[in-house]
Amino acid sequence: MGKIIAVANQKGGVGKTTSSINLAASLAALEYRTLLVDADPQANATSGVGFDPKDIQHSIYECMVDGINAQDIILQTNILPHLDLMPSHIDLVGAEVEMINLPNREEKMKQALASLVDQYDFIIIDCSPSLGLITVNALTAANSVIIPVQCEYFALEGLGKLLNTIKIIQSRLNPQLEIEGILLTMYDVRLRLSNQVVEEVKLHFQQLVFDTIIPRNVKLSESPSFGIPVILHDAESKGSISYLNLAREIVEKNSVTQDGAAYAEGDA
Ligand code: ADP
Ligand code: MG
Repeated sequence: MGKIIAVANQKGGVGKTTSSINLAASLAALEYRTLLVDADPQANATSGVGFDPKDIQHSIYECMVDGINAQDIILQTNILPHLDLMPSHIDLVGAEVEMINLPNREEKMKQALASLVDQYDFIIIDCSPSLGLITVNALTAANSVIIPVQCEYFALEGLGKLLNTIKIIQSRLNPQLEIEGILLTMYDVRLRLSNQVVEEVKLHFQQLVFDTIIPRNVKLSESPSFGIPVILHDAESKGSISYLNLAREIVEKNSVTQDGAAYAEGDA
């Protein structure tokens, strides 16, 4: 029974896609069977693991709206043997509108992923920068959520709204949804501001903050242009090492505190 983790923050440019791609790739490199789900119409996660969104025939959109079998749209990445992709393309924008009139419209992604959870150890969902219906679907399907927070001005802006949305989803749609952790991203050790943000976020959220902090690292911003995760671009880079550390932290946290049993709760 795989664990489904959504990577969400309605703020754009905070590192959701970078974290989704590189966490998924790191888990796959550690030989966990991993599915990366691209739930953003911009399809940056799709191109980030080597696929041209223009060539994508079927996306998660068809699974949610037309009931196409999720199994049939999964792509094996050629880059890491344990990493698969459920791709996106721009039509996902239309899904939001089309789903409005469907019964159980918040549960379409959960239904689409249901047949896959036994095949994977981890399913990582890259959300779009919105709290719209697709993101609500991702949070309803997920066991937990990672919230990337950029070490920048206004880091905490919008977090209250996101946490409130998570609470509403916990009370109405997905009682077992947990916060996997708050992930500090684009940290620059030389900047006082970066250090202030780390302190502020740790003060507010304490043990919810991951020990691993993702540094600002040029290899992380370069690797998408090659269609590969950073671990294949420069395995020795700080960016690569930090996402590997994050993967280890998540693996450890889940086996230490949950013994795998918690994964099954959503199924009960
Ligand atoms: P989001 O998905 O939240 O919109 P992205 O992951 O696409 O954010 O990141 C926004 C931009 O910042 C991208 O150009 C990405 O390459 C860059 N970026 C993200 N994380 C880092 C990092 N740790 N170091 C350097 N650049 C980064
Ligand atoms: Mg993104």
